[in-house]
Amino acid sequence: MAEQIGNLTFGIIKPDAVRNGRAGSIIQRITDSGFKLRGMKLIHMTLKEAEGFYAVHAERPFFGELTEFMSSAPCVVLALEKAGAVKAWRDLMGATDPAKADEGTIRKEFATSIGENAVHGSDSEENARIEIAYFFSQLELI
Ligand code: ATP
Ligand code: MG
Repeated sequence: MAEQIGNLTFGIIKPDAVRNGRAGSIIQRITDSGFKLRGMKLIHMTLKEAEGFYAVHAERPFFGELTEFMSSAPCVVLALEKAGAVKAWRDLMGATDPAKADEGTIRKEFATSIGENAVHGSDSEENARIEIAYFFSQLELI
C-alpha cells in the first residue's frame, strides 16, 4: 500500500442505492468531503457472505431481512482514508433511520427506510480493519 496519511474506514454503498443509480452521486459526495478512495469495487454478496459480515447482529430480529437485502443486488465496497475517518464517514452518512438523519447527510438524501439506508460505515478503527480485510486483498488497496 502507498503511504497512509489519515486513518482508514470501510464503507458500503448498499443495494438500494446501487439499484436506484445513486452510486455515482454518493461517491462524488464522499470525495467532495475530502476522503481518498484507497479501495473500491462492485460486488454481489452471497447470503453467506452477508451473514458473515453482519454476524454481530445475528440475534437481532431484523437479521434475516438485513442479510437478504444485502445479498439482493450488487453493492460498492470502499476503503476510505481521511483524518479521523471512522467518525468523519459516520457523520457524513447520518443516523441509521433516515427520518432521524440530519440535513446534508447521505442517508437524509438517499435512504428510503431504516433497513434500506443507502450506506454502511464501520463503527470503530478496529472494525474498519476487520471489515476492509473481509472484502479486500492487499493487492486491491492502493
Ligand atoms: P451500518 O452498520 O449499516 O453502518 P448502523 O451502524 O447505522 O448501520 P446498525 O445498528 O449497525 O446501524 O445496524 C446495521 C444495519 O441493520 C442498519 O444499517 C440497517 O440496514 C439494519 N437495521 C438496523 N436496525 C434495523 C431495524 N430496526 N429494522 C430493519 N433493519 C435495521
Ligand atoms: Mg453498524
